[in-house]
Amino acid sequence: MTGLSDSFQRPINYLRISVTDRCNLRCIYCMPPGGVRLMRHRDILSYEEIRTLVAAASRLGISKLRLTGGEPLVRADLPRLVAMLAEIETIDDIALTTNGMLLEKYAAEMKRAGLRRVNVSLDTLRPERFRMITRRGNLEDVLKGIDAAKTAGLNPVKINTVVMAGINDDELLGFAGKTIDEGWHVRFIELMPLSGNELTASQFMPVSEIRKRLEALGTLETAFVSAGNGPAKYFRFPGAAGTVGFITPVSEHFCFKCNRLRLTADGKLRPCLLSEQETDLKQLLRHGSSAAELEEAITRAIASKPKEHNLSGGEPARNRPYSQVGG
Ligand code: SAM
Ligand code: SF4
Repeated sequence: MTGLSDSFQRPINYLRISVTDRCNLRCIYCMPPGGVRLMRHRDILSYEEIRTLVAAASRLGISKLRLTGGEPLVRADLPRLVAMLAEIETIDDIALTTNGMLLEKYAAEMKRAGLRRVNVSLDTLRPERFRMITRRGNLEDVLKGIDAAKTAGLNPVKINTVVMAGINDDELLGFAGKTIDEGWHVRFIELMPLSGNELTASQFMPVSEIRKRLEALGTLETAFVSAGNGPAKYFRFPGAAGTVGFITPVSEHFCFKCNRLRLTADGKLRPCLLSEQETDLKQLLRHGSSAAELEEAITRAIASKPKEHNLSGGEPARNRPYSQVGG
């Protein structure tokens, strides 16, 4: 069917699904040191419930899915969910965003289940710094996960790097060099000021500065990248197999072309990451609503999608923890 547009004529075809609020890391820009208050297990959508909601959304034009979290791969048997979603006829793309810690174990199985591609979040190539940023992780596990994803045929594997001044900005050239030497696809993301993380405005670095620093490696040329539903702008160094992407949620928001909805692990549909507006689809599901009633609720949520967020105003977004809304 032809898809729905919101009240600002943005076509909505992309759903990000947070499958769990649990995570095996505690990244300094995402979570407080002690983690966040967790949802009760019974409040988290079952795979069958997620399938029912995705089927309803797909009848309204959603054709692209991304599984995220928390850390999606800590949820038991995630390949089963991927296989269930891949069976929905009008879904033509399923992707995953992961911290990569468990990717070596699951990459091949996820690919067989129907996953197409993966984004791995990685902010440093130095083991001690990795442990400092994630407060517990092992860099080696992530690097093995990236290799396993490539071997499994997940394509492309993109690396998401949140840039923090004074923390990892001395590694910009190291990451960019990987696009030349190893064909990595690296996307540099501006740090978002979210309430609950430990970072301050002084750690923010705009993409304009990141880009200026990268030019020490050569002139960046515009690159065409086909697989992507998102707001990144892509470039490459001359002759490089890999690409450099920039994502600017703060300095140049991309709300005017936002095509996405988000489903939280406890079944709330959010038309915007940074707005607290939510539609409780779990309650409708668990009270026996019909397929038509679910579609109507999703249609209303799409119609209420806000025009834009106001992060560039410098105020941290007051919001659920990022790990609950799926980044
Ligand atoms: N656990 C998975 C991961 O880390 O990839 C998926 C969930 S995580 C919330 C999704 C993305 O949000 C990650 O790429 C992470 O770097 C990004 N993120 C979290 N907090 C952020 C912040 N304050 N600013 C920018 N990106 C952030
Ligand atoms: Fe976990 Fe991802 Fe948040 Fe890091 S960014 S704490 S890996 S949810």
